[in-house]
Amino acid sequence: MAKIAKKKKLASKPRNLKSTSSKFSGSKLARAKLSRAKSPRAKSPRAKSAKSLAAVFTEIWPQERDWLSRPERLKYVRKMVETKGCVFCTARDHEGGPESLCVYKNEWAMVCLNKYPYNSGHVMVLPTRHCGDLTELNESEYLELQTLLKKVVTIVKKEYGVSGINIGLNMGAVAGAGIPGHLHWHVIPRWAGDTNFFPLIAETKVIPETLQQTYERYFHHLNSGRELK
Ligand SMILES: [Zn+2]
Repeated sequence: MAKIAKKKKLASKPRNLKSTSSKFSGSKLARAKLSRAKSPRAKSPRAKSAKSLAAVFTEIWPQERDWLSRPERLKYVRKMVETKGCVFCTARDHEGGPESLCVYKNEWAMVCLNKYPYNSGHVMVLPTRHCGDLTELNESEYLELQTLLKKVVTIVKKEYGVSGINIGLNMGAVAGAGIPGHLHWHVIPRWAGDTNFFPLIAETKVIPETLQQTYERYFHHLNSGRELK
């Protein structure tokens, strides 16, 4: 009888709650939390409580890979530059400001944020000129890129208090370059334990700061004396 009652109780769950919680429903702790949340001691009626809980799970456990952050960030991302042509050249030629994602540029090299950061503070150092081959960089470009790379790493250490940093260049599409026509070194801050369970079970990555906030952090270091537009 007890088993039947339990089955009926599960069947009464809202459809979304049942499907989205299935990935971690094996956890006794998760079941206990759900049970407590639906406790009759709650002020709201049980059905209402279950509905709101389902809404929460639908919201925080999306079934497709997406970026989970605050609403103002989503609003900002929608204003990003179009991806037609080379996004880095478009960012370079933009009038500037956070919407361009280009934090700093000079004649030879520039710094841009990644529209879809792998981690907070993810930034890229790249030649100002559209060039996809390291061997085709002239000496001034190459030296400036290395100088800027070192400067950005210094900023990352100071601003983000990192435990480590991934620095990487993928040259060519088969090597994993997302935009192979324009070289770009990724600089990704890392902290112990930053690969949490979210990407593993919900295909979702949490970025705890907005692109606007990341932009402001780098901008003030790289553009001393200039005001952000
Ligand atoms: Zn380009």
